[in-house]
Amino acid sequence: MKTRLLHFRNDYQKTCYAKIIELNKEDQSIVLDQTVFYPRGGNQDTDTGIIRQDPYILSIESVKKDRDTGVIKHYLTPDSATALDMFHTGQSVFCEINWEKRYQLMKTHTAQHLLSYVLESQFGLKTLKLDLLIDYGYIELDGTFSFETLLSAQHIAQRYIKQGLAIKRKSSNGKFHVIIGNIDDRECGGTHVRRLSEIGCLNIYKVEEQRVYFAVARNAEDIREDQQLDSLKLQSMIPPQVKHVDKFKQWVENMQAELSYLRTRTQELAEGNFCHSLYASHEFSGIERDNETYHLSFHNIPTIDVKRVKKILKDEKGRPPQTSICLCKNRTVAVISTNPFPAFEIMHILKAQDPQMRGGGSKTFAQGGPFLASFEQLKEWVLREWTV
Ligand SMILES: [Zn+2]
Repeated sequence: MKTRLLHFRNDYQKTCYAKIIELNKEDQSIVLDQTVFYPRGGNQDTDTGIIRQDPYILSIESVKKDRDTGVIKHYLTPDSATALDMFHTGQSVFCEINWEKRYQLMKTHTAQHLLSYVLESQFGLKTLKLDLLIDYGYIELDGTFSFETLLSAQHIAQRYIKQGLAIKRKSSNGKFHVIIGNIDDRECGGTHVRRLSEIGCLNIYKVEEQRVYFAVARNAEDIREDQQLDSLKLQSMIPPQVKHVDKFKQWVENMQAELSYLRTRTQELAEGNFCHSLYASHEFSGIERDNETYHLSFHNIPTIDVKRVKKILKDEKGRPPQTSICLCKNRTVAVISTNPFPAFEIMHILKAQDPQMRGGGSKTFAQGGPFLASFEQLKEWVLREWTV
């Protein structure tokens, strides 16, 4: 015997009485003569709910239509298994679905019909596949599309929702059709709302290849705050010439190339400034010590690493004798001395101030780190010890 599906008569029916036709202890399922539960078979998710005969209650976690036999089975949650013994074939029971879930699915399903209609009629994009769950729905389209297309499709769909067109179900030759106003007619056995206005909010929030994810009602309101903002922010950064999703990758690659060029250029400028300061810095020129006159220069160059500093100084042989003290990348201190005053002496001065610091070197070059105090502190320590 076939189970009568009451949702075909009334999508809004939440409860019904039914007779148990079959009890299966093996797979923990029940077959009824009629049901308000929507069985998972097509693309709409299953209803959940309860089957009751006081004082016993069975929780239903899913309802499925067997592909081969067409039998509709109500599957119990594991904690209802023992209560099944209190039920028997032929018994009359009361059924009630989780209406909150069902109503959300009705809105999502109706929104899918509307989106599929808009995308096909206005943009020539047919729906190939879909799935409708409590949190979201998706449709898979038969072609590529731009962000603008999706945003206008969303906008058009939202306008129809505001107009609140009526939805009707029609059956012909044993097949069910769902009709939105006078715009769309498609074959469907799922559940839908009576008016488009019941959908409330509809938002597209994610795209994966040709798959478009959308959410409705309360889910869509959450998305507006959480996720859509991010994706819209990203979209606002994309220049208008990036019309298609496949061009997006190219655009990202170009941006990466530009970024890498800018990084190199910034590095070159920093190094250029450093070279210039090797000649221009007279801040601590002419410091006397042990009857010698020294030239000291300090350089705060956090983007340049020690290797580059050595190379630059090697190439800049024409500068007057001096001791260059550089705070480089990764807070490494490099000292290059063409004075008679040895570079490693400076390293000793710093290590005496900060025992955590490691380092050493020769008369002409010394390095050490990490130097955690400020550049100003570095200057102060060196000058203070120097003039002692
Ligand atoms: Zn449908």
